[in-house]
Amino acid sequence: MLIAGNWKMHTVPDAAVELARDVARRVRSHADSVAVAVCPPSISLAAVGEVVRNTPVRLGAQTMHEAEQGAYTGEVSAPMLGAVGCHYVILGHSERRQLFGEIDAGVNRKTLAALAHGLVPIVCVGETLNERKAGEEETVVGRQIDAALDGVHLDSAAHLVVAYEPVWAIGTGETASPEQAQAMHRFIRDRLVSFGAPREVEILYGGSVKPGNAADLFAQPDIDGGLIGGASLDAESFAAIVEAASKV
Ligand code: PEP
Repeated sequence: MLIAGNWKMHTVPDAAVELARDVARRVRSHADSVAVAVCPPSISLAAVGEVVRNTPVRLGAQTMHEAEQGAYTGEVSAPMLGAVGCHYVILGHSERRQLFGEIDAGVNRKTLAALAHGLVPIVCVGETLNERKAGEEETVVGRQIDAALDGVHLDSAAHLVVAYEPVWAIGTGETASPEQAQAMHRFIRDRLVSFGAPREVEILYGGSVKPGNAADLFAQPDIDGGLIGGASLDAESFAAIVEAASKV
């Protein structure tokens, strides 16, 4: 199981350091059974990296540019993320797709670049409410997976994470039912395997996961953990979700 916190554009650096310290302290006792990651804003990656160094908590970034370096004002690259201790990088989050114009082909370039530099991409996929209402969730998510992983060859299941995040459940308080999430996770796993990926690639569920609904979601056979937005900003809630994962 993997529980990753996406802090989005929250926390000034001092608050990020404080939150990371609190998370590291609270999740220590579950380190044997659950992998935990925090993904702070890029301005705090280095400082949070220092806090979680020598703890079981891993560091992740929320996005990156596919180039190693260059004239890309405002961007950060995979080597930069690696240099401050990142293990993971979230790619293709629906907010990046909807608000910043990211497209499947770009997610693919970033995925290839992350892998080439030893980062583990957390590739996000998920359908909108209209797409679900139209019964198109498998078509959309299948297309996103196929595009993101074009040309990807995995030596190990540990080199990739996929997050299924139905857009209608992100930050809305709406959660996919455990059965809805399980059906999509199974679909994604089969799709990954058809690409030659190991069955053991972790598939996280994301979308309004809270301490109260985490256990039912994580009990599903194809749900390998969670990508947590809002609830990851509160160390107590985040630790409660980690605890729920530890009991599966
Ligand atoms: C997310 O943005 O990845 C997310 C799952 O957010 P929330 O938990 O707030 O729905």
